[in-house]
Amino acid sequence: MKMDAPTLTALNELFRNVAQQADWKAALDTLFVSLRGEFVFDNVAIYLLDPHSKGLDVVYARAMGRGKTAEADAAWGELIASQVLNSGKSIVHEPTKAHTDRLMLAYLLGLPIHLGGRLSGALVFVRFGGPPYSEAHVALASLQAFWTSSLIERRDLQEARDELESVQRQMRLQDDFVSTISHELRTPLGFIKGYSTSLLRQDTTWDQDTTHEFLNIIDEEADRLSHLIENMLESARLQSHTLQFKFSPIRLDALVRDVTTRVKMHQPDLEVELDFENVPPIRGDGLRLSQVFENLFNNALKYAPNSKISISMRNQDEKLKVAFADQGEGIPEEFIPFIFERFYRVPGEAGVTGTGLGLYICNQIILAHHGKIWAESELDKGTTFFIELPVDALV
Ligand code: ADP
Repeated sequence: MKMDAPTLTALNELFRNVAQQADWKAALDTLFVSLRGEFVFDNVAIYLLDPHSKGLDVVYARAMGRGKTAEADAAWGELIASQVLNSGKSIVHEPTKAHTDRLMLAYLLGLPIHLGGRLSGALVFVRFGGPPYSEAHVALASLQAFWTSSLIERRDLQEARDELESVQRQMRLQDDFVSTISHELRTPLGFIKGYSTSLLRQDTTWDQDTTHEFLNIIDEEADRLSHLIENMLESARLQSHTLQFKFSPIRLDALVRDVTTRVKMHQPDLEVELDFENVPPIRGDGLRLSQVFENLFNNALKYAPNSKISISMRNQDEKLKVAFADQGEGIPEEFIPFIFERFYRVPGEAGVTGTGLGLYICNQIILAHHGKIWAESELDKGTTFFIELPVDALV
């Protein structure tokens, strides 16, 4: 094989460009478009064998020239792709009969794709109306099939690495959780034990006010313990999808007003601004949705103490959009993607107790309502939680 220096330089440049692109589909686009000067085709598609269903999935399709085919509709190459998979070899199909319509004259070239050393799919090109594939064309297409295999393998590796990282993070969180939870359980238990032992001492008598104060502490700590255990059970049920939801038409504005009133009974100084505009009824589980707002209030009180809270609700594009904003210290941007994960706590929240379950529970409840929840935050300005819930016309 002879290649001149400019050809080698151009190929080198092209391969470097392809290899540098993070997105495998964009890399393939570059490869196919750049080589079209040497290798013309109208459509290209990649078919991969689904290991479970054993069917062929179209994972990439582009229409470049005459007789553009919709990208999703790559039925034209399915037959040759399965023949390539059966034989393990490159196959050329050329029309046997003449036709006046170019689109009826499909020149197909199918090449095998190997992933991890296994025959896993086919790369298929079509030229409408020819010309036939020369030996040089088939060689160039094989080079493209080789790159296709490498880029898909790289994608698979990247996905496996992402999954591994997520599992590792989850394992670390579980480890942290054990130490957090033992601390969280011990603290209220310590209070309950300490104050009840004091009350039971035979050698001391307590006046009525002190007795009342001790009993109040025991009562509050028992509530804290029960809330904690409830949260743990709830998160376990949500994870195993065994939590039952009872859906009925509800008014979210009234629900949030009720939660606000309850919170303000314990926190009379808390400033809450409500801004609700023509809020339609939605289908939801009132108890669970109350829990979402209770958790958001709890967090605002813990992480944005003394801050005003603003809650707005709008009906927009068939969705009920809620914004729950505080004016606290905010959450550093790099931690925001993780705060809805089970057990996740932003590092450095010294002195603020928690288990990392609250926002996980909120997210699961909103997902069960076919909605979504996310957070935006600006340091020293505050954090806003956004919730979108579908407005069902049939409510
Ligand atoms: P936790 O039990 O730690 O409060 P959550 O799941 O409720 O668990 O919250 C996860 C993390 O998100 C918290 O550890 C906290 O760092 C952060 N966070 C939640 N709400 C706020 C808020 N309003 N302002 C700042 N940080 C918040």
